Amino acid sequence: MLKNHKLAKSLSDASLQEIIRQLIYKSKWKGKKIYKIDTYYPSSQICSKCGYKNEKIKNLNIRHYECPKCHNELDRDYNASENIMFEGLKQYMKEVKIWTNCNSKQGNYE
Ligand SMILES: [Zn+2]
Repeated sequence: MLKNHKLAKSLSDASLQEIIRQLIYKSKWKGKKIYKIDTYYPSSQICSKCGYKNEKIKNLNIRHYECPKCHNELDRDYNASENIMFEGLKQYMKEVKIWTNCNSKQGNYE
């Protein structure tokens, strides 16, 4: 990593912008849709099984934890990826009006 943190951040932002640009380009090319999730969406704090939001899990060093409500063992990154997928599905379902009750608990897509 570069010593100049501002330059390093600028370069990583530029790389991220290029990845987003490529995703948009490729998705249009293939007829797919992309949904942007809010930057502050608490994807790693919400249990993907029961929807409980655990605000004690803000420390990034905590990689695995147990949901205090449903006692499910959660891997931080995998749990966050599931929540991001559910949030994207919610946006899609709102857009196509398939699902009208978007306040249901997450994880009920079986
Ligand atoms: Zn839970």
